[in-house]
Amino acid sequence: MSKYETVIGLEIHAQLATESKMFCSCSTKFGAEPNTNVCEICTGQPGVLPKINKKAIELAIKTGLALNCKIEPMSVFARKNYFYPDLPKAYQISQYELPIITGGHLEIEIPNEGENSNSRLRKKINITRIHLEEDAGKLVHKGAERIMGSEESLVDYNRGGTPLMEIVTEPDIRSPLEAKIFMEDLAHLLQYIGVCDAKMEEGSLRCDANISIRPVGQKELGTKTELKNMNSFRFVQMGLEAEVARHTEMKASGEKIIQETRYFDTKTHDTKSMRSKEEAHDYRYFPEPDLVTIEPDHKWIEEIRATLTELPEKKRERYINEYGLPNPIAEVLIATKSISDYFEECLKIENKPKEIANWMLVNVMAYLKNKNLDIKDIVFSPRELIELIKLIEKGTISGTAAKEVLIKALETGKNIKDIVSESGATQISDEGALQQIVKEVIKNNPKQVLQFKSGKDPVIMYLVGQVMKESKGRAKPDLVQALLRKELS
Ligand code: ADP
Ligand code: MG
Ligand code: ZN
Repeated sequence: MSKYETVIGLEIHAQLATESKMFCSCSTKFGAEPNTNVCEICTGQPGVLPKINKKAIELAIKTGLALNCKIEPMSVFARKNYFYPDLPKAYQISQYELPIITGGHLEIEIPNEGENSNSRLRKKINITRIHLEEDAGKLVHKGAERIMGSEESLVDYNRGGTPLMEIVTEPDIRSPLEAKIFMEDLAHLLQYIGVCDAKMEEGSLRCDANISIRPVGQKELGTKTELKNMNSFRFVQMGLEAEVARHTEMKASGEKIIQETRYFDTKTHDTKSMRSKEEAHDYRYFPEPDLVTIEPDHKWIEEIRATLTELPEKKRERYINEYGLPNPIAEVLIATKSISDYFEECLKIENKPKEIANWMLVNVMAYLKNKNLDIKDIVFSPRELIELIKLIEKGTISGTAAKEVLIKALETGKNIKDIVSESGATQISDEGALQQIVKEVIKNNPKQVLQFKSGKDPVIMYLVGQVMKESKGRAKPDLVQALLRKELS
């Protein structure tokens, strides 16, 4: 065990999935021509009045409910004053002393060190608060060699005013891996409940990570540094690992760690200073005079609670307990909401969880992955998958043929029934037709026939295999075996 313990707390910015911005009706659509989704309000012209986007409040409350938090009966917006070219108002509307949500936690599953590598430990990471704010615009640096400072900078205000939710955790995280797992689980949850598309690579979810180390057993926290704006799950872990190593080395050589903001250089894989505490802003927060306080009533909160779908963790338990699925399969199915929705649509038609899960995982999902598609992109409906499973059960087609039929259905969007009748993939259950193949196989494999006749019973399976091959997988194996035995007796 190392002498020092790592302590991490995260500040996460999540873009809320609203159609319009936080305080005006401009579109939040990503990828528009620069400076086309802007108006007087989000560019901070004098004399305009912001108005709160009710949907953003609703999504924040939904998040709070999903994370077991307290929804505050009264919260206020505040002005956070600072100047930066991506912020034309020279203040950001945020929340400070009275955030909309406090308390709560997310339970994550971490590898259990010391135990065998497969065992897992459940751990609660507490949430300090969640508050609402607006995003800033985006600076585009041209000819930039370094992160800061470049030849020429352009500014796009389309993102300015986009609703953001900032989720702050307690310093409960104990390793860079735990931080990564927390981010992944949080992203999954936010996607699940539909409040944020949570794609770190596209910036809809971003993370500032605060880290310090302290001697094992010490209660008091060490001096922290903050890693700004990490934009991938992997970089969260890598950046923190680099920072833990730096802190540890500094402690070992007796150097003093200074509180500062740093960034992870994804090229050199180390962290570099951005600004020290002395350069920190005094934001001179004060309550936003142009906006009313947020006072969600009980009835509205309960209405929002009713829209909360089953959360991933509950769903996983249900898949295991109710459907008897093994944990790894349950995990794959719940990992993507559209996949678990599809699975449940199938179940509504036919209650065969194991068969459906099996066909989805082994065939449908493999196909989607291969083509880089989402299940929502294909026309192959749950009804068709059930049709396929039924045809196999009735013995109309063999498992082997079914795979080909399925691929064809996925590719062409045609009905299973049509594909089966067109391709002649139906199983040969007509004895006369099979008899012919059986006779031929017996004639062509005298050695194995002799072995079988001298008492080596398992050789029958070899002969069955030969008949299956000749019939191109369209024969029914048990029928083939019966015919072979009859012929050889
Ligand atoms: P600041 O005012 O500098 O932003 P906060 O107290 O608001 O600091 O905490 C910001 C984040 O940093 C929180 O997620 C918190 O859990 C975490 N944090 C605070 N102190 C430490 C520390 N000493 N080591 C690691 N994380 C910390
Ligand atoms: Mg902070
Ligand atoms: Zn606007």
